Amino acid sequence: MFGLSKNKTKGSKQDNAQIDKQKLEKLTYALSQLREIVNSLANPIFAFEFDGSIYYFSQGASKILKKPLPAVLGRKWFVVLPLEPKDKMREMYSNFVDKKQKISGEFTGPDNRPIELVISPIHFGQGGVVSGGVVEIIDLTQKKQFQQRQIDFISFISHELRTPISSAKGYLDVVLHEADYLKPEHKKFLERAMASTQRQADTVEKLIDLSNLERGQMIVTLEEIDIIAEIQDVIAYWRDVASKKSLSLNFLYPKFNIPHVKADVTLLRTILNNLLDNATKYTKEGSIEVSLYQKESFVYVAIKDTGPGIAEDIQKEIFEKFVRGEHSMTETTQGSGLGLYLAKRFTEQMGGKLTLETKLGEGSTFTFSLPVF
Ligand code: ADP
Repeated sequence: MFGLSKNKTKGSKQDNAQIDKQKLEKLTYALSQLREIVNSLANPIFAFEFDGSIYYFSQGASKILKKPLPAVLGRKWFVVLPLEPKDKMREMYSNFVDKKQKISGEFTGPDNRPIELVISPIHFGQGGVVSGGVVEIIDLTQKKQFQQRQIDFISFISHELRTPISSAKGYLDVVLHEADYLKPEHKKFLERAMASTQRQADTVEKLIDLSNLERGQMIVTLEEIDIIAEIQDVIAYWRDVASKKSLSLNFLYPKFNIPHVKADVTLLRTILNNLLDNATKYTKEGSIEVSLYQKESFVYVAIKDTGPGIAEDIQKEIFEKFVRGEHSMTETTQGSGLGLYLAKRFTEQMGGKLTLETKLGEGSTFTFSLPVF
C-alpha cells in the first residue's frame, strides 16, 4: 500500500548501502503515515498480545483514558486501564480468550464517561491463529445524551396523551352503555371507536412503562404471590378474546406443589397480558396453552401457541424495543413493538428470565421464571 518497492530505479549507480537507506526511509515514512491514519480514526484504538499485554496505544486512547503511553505499554489492559467495573474487564478478556471472536462491553471511564470497548481478534497471517486483539474505544457520551432526550420526549408525549385518551374512553363508555336507542350500525361504529381508543390507551401505558423503566423510576414491590390465582384471573379475559377467534386457551398446572412466588403483582400481570395478547393476536387457528412448573428455586410459566412462529434471523432482536416481526408489519396486526421488551425487562427486575423457543410455521413458546417466595 505504501509502495515500498516501487522506486527501485533500474540501472542506478547507488550502492547497496544507499538502497538500504532509501528502504529504511520509506519504511519510516510508511509507519508514520500509518500512525497518522490510526490517530485520525473516529474512535481511538489500542492493541494487545494474546496474554493481554498492550503493545500499541494510539494518541486518542491516551487522551480519552488519561494514560500516557509509557504507563500502559507491556502491561495487561484489563489491569491498567482506568475503567469500572474492573471485574467486567477481566471477564471480557477471558471471554475473548475463550471465544476468539468480536465482543463488546460498556464501562465507566475517567470523568464518569460511558465508554464501550469493542475487541476484534488479530489473526497471525491470513486465517492463522489469533495472536491478540485490537480494541476500539467508543465514547458513548453523545449517544447516551441523545437516548436520554428520546426518553424525556417519550415520557412527555405519553403523559400528555394519557389524559385526553382516557377522557375520550370515558365518554365513549357512557354513550355505549346507553346505546340501545342507536341504530345497530351506529352502535358498531362506537364499538370500533372504543376498541381503537383502548389500543391507543394500551400503547400510551406501554410508553409510560418504558420511560419509567429507562429513567430508573420503576417502583418494584416484591411480595408473596399465589401465581395460580393470578394467572387464572388474567386468563379469564384472554379466554374471551381467544374464543372470539375460535382458539382454545387452556391453563395446565399441578394441583399441589406449586409454591408462591416473590414478585410485583403489577409487573407480573403486565407480563402475562403482553404474552397472552401476542399469543391471541398472532395465532390464527389452533390453541394456546399456559403451563406452570417448578424447577429448583424458580417457578416457570410457559405460554405456548400454534401461531406463525418467529423467523430465526429476527429471534435475537425480538426482545429489543420497537422491534416488530416481518409478519406483523405486512399483516394487519396492530402493535408498538414494546410488549416483549417490557415483558423481558420486568421479568429481570423480579430476578427471573424470559426465553423463547419457536419454529417458523409451527408456533412459539415464551417461558418466564420467577423466584420461589
Ligand atoms: P407488538 O406485538 O406490539 O408488535 P411485541 O414486542 O409484543 O410487539 O412483539 C414483537 C414482535 O414479536 C411482534 O411484532 C411479532 O412479530 C413477534 N411476536 C411476538 N409474539 C409472537 C407470537 N406469539 N407469535 C408470533 N410472533 C410473535
